[in-house]
Amino acid sequence: MKSRATDEEPIVFVGMRVSDLPVPHVPSVERTCATCSEAIWVGRDGLRMASKAERLVCVPCISIELELEAAGPIVYH
Ligand SMILES: [Zn+2]
Repeated sequence: MKSRATDEEPIVFVGMRVSDLPVPHVPSVERTCATCSEAIWVGRDGLRMASKAERLVCVPCISIELELEAAGPIVYH
């Protein structure tokens, strides 16, 4: 899924938790969820987007935020 975020809006980058996905599907590096501090995967292809993101969060955390409608534009990779 491609991001529809604009430069004006903060980007939230979502990654799978390492604990949920011990072996990533694509070459990835470990980052840390800004909300729960769990280790998450960022695919190498997603690194550029992740570096521009305001926050990196894991899937469970963003699910909670979406329910609360508190999240900004979401980037999946
Ligand atoms: Zn998290």
